[in-house]
Amino acid sequence: MNTFSIVFLAALALATATRLWLAGRHVSHVRAHRDRVPDAFAREIDLDSHRKAADYTCARTRFALIDLLVGVAILLALTFGSGLQWLHAVSAAWLGEGIPRGLLLIALVGLLLTLLDLPSDLYRTFVIEQRFGFNKSTPGLFFADLCKSLLVGALLLLPLAALIIWLIRELGDYWWIFGWAVTVAYGIFVQFIAPTVIAPLFNKFSPMEDPELKARVERLLERCGFKVKGLMKMDGSRRSSHGNAYFTGFGNSKRIVFFDTLLQQLSPAEVEAVLAHELGHFKLRHIVKRLLLSSTLSFGFFWVLHFLMEQSWFYSGLGVASPSAAMALILFMLALPPFSFLLQPLGALYSRTHEFEADQYAAQYASARDLVSALIKLYRDNASTLTPDPLHSAFHDSHPPAAARIARLQKA
Ligand SMILES: [Zn+2]
Repeated sequence: MNTFSIVFLAALALATATRLWLAGRHVSHVRAHRDRVPDAFAREIDLDSHRKAADYTCARTRFALIDLLVGVAILLALTFGSGLQWLHAVSAAWLGEGIPRGLLLIALVGLLLTLLDLPSDLYRTFVIEQRFGFNKSTPGLFFADLCKSLLVGALLLLPLAALIIWLIRELGDYWWIFGWAVTVAYGIFVQFIAPTVIAPLFNKFSPMEDPELKARVERLLERCGFKVKGLMKMDGSRRSSHGNAYFTGFGNSKRIVFFDTLLQQLSPAEVEAVLAHELGHFKLRHIVKRLLLSSTLSFGFFWVLHFLMEQSWFYSGLGVASPSAAMALILFMLALPPFSFLLQPLGALYSRTHEFEADQYAAQYASARDLVSALIKLYRDNASTLTPDPLHSAFHDSHPPAAARIARLQKA
């Protein structure tokens, strides 16, 4: 234990206490509003659906608390409990000093964290989602997904880690500028291949077929001055009955994806309004802005990493006696969240302003009324709460609360 240990433990305690407090507030707020549908939704949402959303939200939030505490215990076991030191010993028993040993250490930590996370993933899918009627996955599909994501994760991350460790070894003091540039470029490359190479490993994508919908969508795209080849339907119903739509990729790989579950829930006019919202994200350059912001932040993170990895107190303060480039990367990833959690409400705020902007865009190019009715259906069918705790929502939510979004749309 040194001063850094105490600073880290204090940050971890503060971050954990804040999350516990917010979750506690959220559960009491949702429970207090459980027996009355807010006036603005009284016509469209019945009391049973409203109660189901409250129960679902409370079940998920309570479980997230347990998950949070388990995560803290794992973090403490890896650092102060010498878990990382032990994994270092395992990798050192197999391989001599060098890049392959560093990669083995990173792979072991990644595998261990995934396995430790498995019970809570299983519980979330096969107990909570099941109980509320959302789960459509099977144990077979669940484990196939797990194997695929481990493999894809290893294929994507290990080459980048190898390159960064190599830069650290070869370039001396300024490695972090190159490391940052390589990471940003690699991130853009992964975003580019994600819709066409990675996503199809997990889901089937097919062009939208409904002729009425297609004609509507083509008129909308023309009005917005938009060329997109990849307007796709995804078989989200394989895993869950939750519906969604998203925008992904850029250049030739850009795609607007609708879950089949969403297409079943919404009328063609409502799908058009949701699509206009997604187009808004693209037209208003939200994707590029987000990329610029995260690149700027990661420039700072790389500088901090380069500084920390030269300090022996950084390793010893986190229970590690064998400094190496790979260990520094792992410690940095593990120790960062308790410090960076203060950025979370700012990131959520930024994302919510983008949601409001995309809603305004949709109101301009499609119909605000159709977007409102689509949102209400989405909230009802996904059992999303209409009455979140305001502070919890401000801290965590990437989307504004339903009431705020709909109020603005009705003004538009
Ligand atoms: Zn959006």
